Amino acid sequence: MSATYPSVRMPLRGPDPQSLLEEAERCVYCGFCESVCPTIRVGPHRGYGPRGRVNLLISWLESGALSEEVIESVYSCLLCDACYTVCPAHIRLSELMRGARALLTSRGALDKGLAVRTR
Ligand code: SF4
Ligand code: SF4
Repeated sequence: MSATYPSVRMPLRGPDPQSLLEEAERCVYCGFCESVCPTIRVGPHRGYGPRGRVNLLISWLESGALSEEVIESVYSCLLCDACYTVCPAHIRLSELMRGARALLTSRGALDKGLAVRTR
């Protein structure tokens, strides 16, 4: 039996920082997503969960300060959409993380020596 997903609110187009920020800022920080995310329990910080990913993404896009914590958060997401099935704001983390990865790549961030760790 296939899962029923809420309707997709908006498509994200490429690595556009403003559209990523606007989508992330719809988060109401309810935390419902944290109970279903498979990575939050195995990571060393909250950025391994959906709410933490949203937080780190917003702080990066607003400040321009890119840290290893942000990169770990973006690349440790499994893009599984489990969080999307419980999110009242219908935020699609997998699309946000794909957009963030595209943005990192387009800015050459991964070529500048910032390490990507996976666990
Ligand atoms: S898409 Fe990413 S943030 Fe959402 S539940 Fe899966 S691993 Fe966690
Ligand atoms: S369920 Fe959605 S709105 Fe709630 S904290 Fe997670 S991403 Fe934000």
